Amino acid sequence: SHRITLGPLVAAIDQGTSSTRFLVFNSKTAELLSHHQVEIKQSFPKEGWVEEDPKEILQSVYECMERTCEKLMQLNIDISNIKAIGVTNQRETTLVWDKETGEPLYNAIVWLDLRTQSTVERLINRTPGRNKNHLRHKTGLPISTYFSAVKLRWLMDNVDEVRDAVVSHRAMFGTVDSWLIWCLTGGKSGGVHCTDVTNASRTMLFNIHTMDWDPELCKYFGIPMEILPRVRSSSEIYGLMKISSCWKSGALSGIPISGCLGDQSAALVGQMCFQDGQAKNTYGTGCFLLRNTGAKPVMSDHGLLTTVAYKLGRDKPACYALEGSVAIAGAVVRWLEDNLGIIGSSEELEKLAASVGTSYGCYFVPAFSGLYAPYWEPSARGIICGLTQFTNKSHLAFAALEAVCFQTREILDAMNQDSGIPLTQLQVDGGMTSNKLLMQLQADILCIPVVKPSMPETTALGAAMAAGAAEGVSVWSLNPEDLSEVTSEKFDPQINPEESEFRYARWKKAVEKSKNWET
Ligand code: ADP
Repeated sequence: SHRITLGPLVAAIDQGTSSTRFLVFNSKTAELLSHHQVEIKQSFPKEGWVEEDPKEILQSVYECMERTCEKLMQLNIDISNIKAIGVTNQRETTLVWDKETGEPLYNAIVWLDLRTQSTVERLINRTPGRNKNHLRHKTGLPISTYFSAVKLRWLMDNVDEVRDAVVSHRAMFGTVDSWLIWCLTGGKSGGVHCTDVTNASRTMLFNIHTMDWDPELCKYFGIPMEILPRVRSSSEIYGLMKISSCWKSGALSGIPISGCLGDQSAALVGQMCFQDGQAKNTYGTGCFLLRNTGAKPVMSDHGLLTTVAYKLGRDKPACYALEGSVAIAGAVVRWLEDNLGIIGSSEELEKLAASVGTSYGCYFVPAFSGLYAPYWEPSARGIICGLTQFTNKSHLAFAALEAVCFQTREILDAMNQDSGIPLTQLQVDGGMTSNKLLMQLQADILCIPVVKPSMPETTALGAAMAAGAAEGVSVWSLNPEDLSEVTSEKFDPQINPEESEFRYARWKKAVEKSKNWET
């Protein structure tokens, strides 16, 4: 049959909190040729607990690869044109498995999970001056339930299988990238146990200055270093894909996995934010604003994280970023759907909110997992205030969208204060950006334009670019000029700044109540 020749292709596995995707790009144009997406189940076994099944995560990757390969075959595109595969993933989510059986020893503890709140409070109380920033000089992070170290500690303290495997030297720890790369390169028969610097920088065991695991941090959390994956750069060949030839995706066997970035770093790369000062905001389950600070790690005075942005090659310098993380963005949409049942789908939310065009004075702080940046307050809880007899579910829907915008405003303000140079527009991406009302509201609340690329899969694109640019692959240069095709949609502020400030001030009041609701 007739095969289309396209030149080298590059693929990415994008394993997010709510779904998994596999995507194939043309490396010359960054055009998305084919992809498949599968939802991931989340379980909430107890209040504040959030888990996912490691095997379901892996299976979803296989399924996405299989379906995408089928689609490529239908398009007459030769799968052997794929030269490299990148991995990008939900960060911090913590797994432990047995290297001899290949079996996970517990569910993955998702980044949003709050089970370690009392541990975190105990750790902070033990520091001089009850300082949650006690480890920040090494890690760039406050002590929080968010990061992997405390989740791993919980697994070692509470799950017999994990403890036994650690004692008998059979345990492997990893974030989702490590689990997937280990499984996809052979698993118990020779899988590669590695992670990249961006994912490592979210564990709280990694020193962002020495760019390696830190023995003191490991000691502090009581983590044996032998269970940690090897830390690599974000763009180099980690290993080759091994997939049974009985699948169509068996054609991917032998292709190097040569890119690995935490999802927010991948989006920064995919949005071409390679210059000091460039920033992007991604709206997924949570919301994450990252600003490139170049070769030096900048410590925030306003509650932002210092994180490794990327290191695109073994011999390339590391780039750092300031990050504002919001725990609940798209997750509030899923909550309105699953827990309250007031919408049937995320698309319906936009219609409902647009039908009223105002929250009618209702403010919704979705602090379901405490508050992240800039507050880092694990004991905060969600609050809806300003209700009247008149309030209905449409107003609540509107307030939920506004909450995402206000939270972004808070981290943007912190970012501007830390850097002293205000952003003049905001580059955005992520699943929620398909909501045009949200985008307009965001421009209104920030009082600056919001710019969205027409190809929304920037996270996957970043991982694919890193994979394609790896030494030994090199089908893709990381030169923004080579991708002049990038088109975008722009949302300009439409309300006056006084109106915007008034609403933001109200929001801040609501946040104070969510922080102090118990006292
Ligand atoms: P993640 O990478 O965290 O898995 P995605 O970038 O795939 O997340 O975005 C999915 C999130 O976006 C979900 O929480 C979903 O509820 C939300 N979402 C998707 N479409 C819309 C929409 N039209 N309006 C509001 N929220 C949406």
